[in-house]
Amino acid sequence: MKYALQILLGSFSTQERNAGKDEVIGRLEEVFKLLPVEHVFFGWYTDKDINREIIDFIHNHGKKAWLWIPVFSESPASVDSDRQIGYLSAGLDAGEKIRMRDYNFCCPSSEKNRDIVYNLYMEHFSDVGFDGIFLDKIRQPGFSDGLERALGCFCPRCKEHYKKYDVDVELLVEKVVNKPNILLPVSYSGCKYSFADNDVNNYYIAKAACISEGIISITNRFKDIGLKVGLDTFAPVISWFVGQDILKLAKHVDFIKPMIYRTVNLPAGIPYEVAAIVQCIPNVEAKARLCNLLGVDEISSDDSAKRQYMDMADIGCDIYPGFEIFNVNDRDPTDTSYATTQAALYSELGAKQTVLSYTLMGDTMRNIKALSTLPFNNWS
Ligand SMILES: [Zn+2]
Repeated sequence: MKYALQILLGSFSTQERNAGKDEVIGRLEEVFKLLPVEHVFFGWYTDKDINREIIDFIHNHGKKAWLWIPVFSESPASVDSDRQIGYLSAGLDAGEKIRMRDYNFCCPSSEKNRDIVYNLYMEHFSDVGFDGIFLDKIRQPGFSDGLERALGCFCPRCKEHYKKYDVDVELLVEKVVNKPNILLPVSYSGCKYSFADNDVNNYYIAKAACISEGIISITNRFKDIGLKVGLDTFAPVISWFVGQDILKLAKHVDFIKPMIYRTVNLPAGIPYEVAAIVQCIPNVEAKARLCNLLGVDEISSDDSAKRQYMDMADIGCDIYPGFEIFNVNDRDPTDTSYATTQAALYSELGAKQTVLSYTLMGDTMRNIKALSTLPFNNWS
């Protein structure tokens, strides 16, 4: 098995940079000696000279450089976007413009919004030599953003779209407000949930169709200019709730990286997102239901990761599962067993590559050194 590295270099603002160029190149040099690396995803700091130097370094070592960039959130505050409208008809601006970064989600059916990432690429990144583009935030908010945001966009255009899928939009909203536990699924198959209530069931199908259409059209524009495309998705246990039809999206890209983050208590982390689901859907059985539907005892267990990986095994593109390489929560910083266990699990399941997520900078070298001793690392 080989490895992909992920580095959060900074945001679109030149005021926010997480790591300097020399620091990044120094770390890559160190890791390239220890692990068989094929890809490096980094972004989305806009300084062309710095990006070019890092890319040249990656290319000189025979690896591929990918621009990591968000689609439906975290666009620069200066970019005009159509905001997501909540089902209570309010624009969902949480005032989260932290350090010039807009964490609000925008409407996925807006053609204007679908142009943003391509235009940003052309303005800041098209002439520095990236081999591919790695699209993040290809979704709507999750339950960790609260129930209204989690239900996605209810602008007039999105409502019309839901109606085409036989959703009685007004009735759906009334039902969700009065009885949010109708959002608890009743079955799971092919990385998707289904729901007993027809409006809820059709709503999730419609939401995913809208996001898929947007992402596929964005993907095609990048492929047309000669770039390879990869996608950052949620883990299958939570992806359907945020509008990601993993099996459909996978048919259009070179790889997907499901974020099977089993320990981190942050957005996209399975424990964090499932706790938010349980909070928004007031049903004592919520967590047990998700475990039952997946056929596992514990939602963040090895078995759960394995089940989720196997659900994606034949989807038509490479699957590069991502796991946390930095030390999180209360874990003993000297304990490298999580990293080595994940790598062993995915190697055994046949993954060609895993993604050491989501930023290599920081306290990661102890885990990297532990991974370097594993027998299945493929240097050929
Ligand atoms: Zn909308």
